Amino acid sequence: MTSPSYEVHQPQFRGMVDTTSLPEAIARGFTWAEGPVWWHGALYFNDIPAKRMWKWQPESGLSVALENSEFANGNTLDGRGQMISCEHGGRRVIRRPDPKDPATVEVIADRYQGKRLNSPNDVVVRSDGSIWFTDPPYGINSDVEGYLAESEIGGCHVYCALPDGTLIAVATDFDKPNGLAFSPDETRLYIADSGAIRGASFPGIDHTLPHHIRVFDVDGTTLRGGGVFAVIEPGVPDGLRVDHDGNVWTSAMDGIRCLSPEGQTLGKIVLPAPTANLCFGGPDGTDMFITASDTVWRVRTTRRDAATCLRNQGPRT
Ligand code: MG
Repeated sequence: MTSPSYEVHQPQFRGMVDTTSLPEAIARGFTWAEGPVWWHGALYFNDIPAKRMWKWQPESGLSVALENSEFANGNTLDGRGQMISCEHGGRRVIRRPDPKDPATVEVIADRYQGKRLNSPNDVVVRSDGSIWFTDPPYGINSDVEGYLAESEIGGCHVYCALPDGTLIAVATDFDKPNGLAFSPDETRLYIADSGAIRGASFPGIDHTLPHHIRVFDVDGTTLRGGGVFAVIEPGVPDGLRVDHDGNVWTSAMDGIRCLSPEGQTLGKIVLPAPTANLCFGGPDGTDMFITASDTVWRVRTTRRDAATCLRNQGPRT
């Protein structure tokens, strides 16, 4: 098994990650860990096939946050500090207002033009309160990460839910849209296409199919451009985050890679198993937490999440 390590491709990567200390496994034993988010002083993440949400705190370690999470996947926070979750089982995007009671939810979106969504996968919130999410079929194309069912919509789109409840399909030309994140000034939106994996939890990869990140110019709820920003091999890009300087941190088969805003690989965090997602968190927001198959890792960095920085500044005018 590969040991965790770092690859420094450009010198500035040494100033972004503490390469003198190896990635630390803080929790193990999951089926397929996903959806990391730092919420009210703790790391929350989902074991999708096990239908369980976990909570990890630096002082007290691991505990179950929610039994029967209905195959919840990607998580983020909104401007009020509430958790926004993608739920395969319910085929919907939901809000969890209270960390003491994560089972209590409010539905943000579950249908588009009267048809059920496929299985929302990952989600980001813009500073104007709109909620952007992807809707591939990984929660309906088997019973592993959801409930086997036909797609009612017949496509895998990217959506924007406005605060008034309106749901807009903002991109309809993806194979399997997955992780997504805005640039620090929210003028660009990065969206992964993980089409090269057909089923849940990496059962097989076909690199003739999409395994790249696209970048769009954002004008209100209109996306323009959409060219390939970076091809990710081996594996696919799944979850991704953008740091306060605009660097893109994406998952891949072999760990996490850091890309400059121009798409140049600056460095890699090499991990021994397929890697699904990451977030920034910890006491000062600079710890990176990575969900990679059965293990959750922590890496010390000098980075902060661009969305968190924007949220802490309050709404843009
Ligand atoms: Mg994902």
